[in-house]
Amino acid sequence: MSGPRSPALLRTTSERASRFLETLPDRPVAPRPESVAQLDRLAGPLPKEGRAPDQVIAELDEIGGAATVASAGPRYFGFVIGSGLPVALAANWLSGAWNQNAGAGAMSPVATRLGAVALDWVRELLDLPVGVRGSFVTGATLANFAGLAAARYAVLRHAGWDLGARGLTGAPEIAVVVGEEIHVSALRALGLLGFGRERLTRVPVDDQGRMRADALPELRGPTIVCTQAGNVNSGAFDPFPAIIERARAAGAWVHVDGAFGLWAQAAPARRHLSQGVEAADSWSVDGHKWLNVPYDSGMVFVRHADELRAALATGPAAYLSDGGEAQPWEFSPEMSQRARGIDTWAAVRSLGRSGVADLVERCCRHAQRFAERLEAAGFRILNDVVLNQVLVSFGTDEQTRRTIDALQREGTCWCGGTVWHGTTAMRISVSSWATTKADVDRSVDAMIRLARDAEVRPPTRRDGRA
Ligand SMILES: *Cc1c(COP(=O)(O)O)cnc(C)c1O
Repeated sequence: MSGPRSPALLRTTSERASRFLETLPDRPVAPRPESVAQLDRLAGPLPKEGRAPDQVIAELDEIGGAATVASAGPRYFGFVIGSGLPVALAANWLSGAWNQNAGAGAMSPVATRLGAVALDWVRELLDLPVGVRGSFVTGATLANFAGLAAARYAVLRHAGWDLGARGLTGAPEIAVVVGEEIHVSALRALGLLGFGRERLTRVPVDDQGRMRADALPELRGPTIVCTQAGNVNSGAFDPFPAIIERARAAGAWVHVDGAFGLWAQAAPARRHLSQGVEAADSWSVDGHKWLNVPYDSGMVFVRHADELRAALATGPAAYLSDGGEAQPWEFSPEMSQRARGIDTWAAVRSLGRSGVADLVERCCRHAQRFAERLEAAGFRILNDVVLNQVLVSFGTDEQTRRTIDALQREGTCWCGGTVWHGTTAMRISVSSWATTKADVDRSVDAMIRLARDAEVRPPTRRDGRA
C-alpha cells in the first residue's frame, strides 16, 4: 500500500478501467458461462482477515470484469440501456472521489448547485415549461413514484383532504386511469402508493400500444391519468393533446412516464411524436438510458414544486432546518443522495443542445436501418419504427425464440425477446452513444445468418437433447 490515500491504487484502477473499456467493442456482448462460473471465487464465507486493497481490485477486475455484460459497448440492444458517455463517466469518477452528499447545500455546494443547473438544462432540453421543478432520483421507477405521489397529494388536496396530516384512511377515493400497456414500473409505483392493480381503470390501446383517447372513461372526482411517452416495445407515444384536454376539463392530474421516450422532445425531427406532452402535470425521465450517463440516474419533473415537496414532506426536524432555501432532499423520496447531477451536468455541458439532439436522432436512424435491412432480408417488422425501438419476427414464434437464443449465445450483439400483441418478437432498442452504422450492419448480418440457421435446423434444446 502506498500511503493512507493510496494514489497508486487509484491510478492502476483507472488504467484497469480504461483497458476494460478499450477491449469492450471486441468481446462477446454476453459474458461466457465459464466467466460467470468464476464468480464463485469472489464468494465464500465472510473473510476472517483482510486482504491488500490492490489484490482486492486485481481480483475484482480480472474475475468480475470478465463476468460483465458489455452493455457499455456499442452492440447492446437489450431492454433500453445507455452506455455511459466517457465525459459523464469521468465526471462520475471525479465526483466519486469527492464523495459528496447531494441532499443539501450544507453538505455539498457543488453537488447541489450543479444538480440544479443540470435539472434546469434538462428541463429546457425536454421543452418543459419554465418553473417546472426537477429532482434527481435513482431511475424512472422512483421518478414515477415521486410524480404520482405528488399527483395523489394534489388531487386529494383539491378534494379538501390533507393527505400529509390524515393519511389515506377515510380519504376520498381516487380514480387512476392508465393505458392497457402501462409499464410495469409505473404499476409498481402505483402499488406502493396504495393503488391496487385491480382498481385501475385500463384504457384500451391501438395497434401501436397507444392509449385510445376516444376510449377514455368519464373523468370525475379526484383523478390521476398516467400516460406514456415511449411504449417499451414499440416506442409509441400516447396522444397527449386529446388526453390532457379531457383531463384538464375534469381537474385530473396527468403524469407522463417518459423514461426514454421523453427525449424525443430534444430532437427536432422527433418532436412531433411527443407533441403536447409539455401540458402534463408531472413527468419521469431516465438519464441512464438515452442521455447515457452512468447508473443510477433518473429525474422527475413536476409543474408545481409545492405539490412535490408537500407530498414528500417529513415532519419537522430541527437539525435539518436552516430556515433558508429549499433543499434537494425535500423534493426526493431520498435524503442522502449520490451527486447524480454532476454526471448529467458534464454530459449536457459536453454535448450541448445540438449534441443531445444528434445522439437521439442517430439512435432513431440506426433503428430505422435495422428495420429496413431486416425487412429487406424477408423478416417481418411488427411496429411502426418511429423512435429507437424495433420489433422483428423471424418467422414462427419458435423460429424467433431460437434466433434470439442463438444470437445471445453467439455474442456479436445482444437483444431480448418479447410478446407483441400475440406474436413472439425480438426487441431491438438503440440507445447507446457508441453505436455506429457499422455496428448496426455487423449486428444485422449476425441476426440474418442465425435466423436462416434457425429456419433450417430442427429445434434443439440448450442441454443438447432433442
Ligand atoms: C426503463 C423504464 C422504466 C423504469 O426505469 P428504471 O430506470 O429502470 O427505474 C419505466 N418506464 C419505462 C417506459 C421504461 O422504459
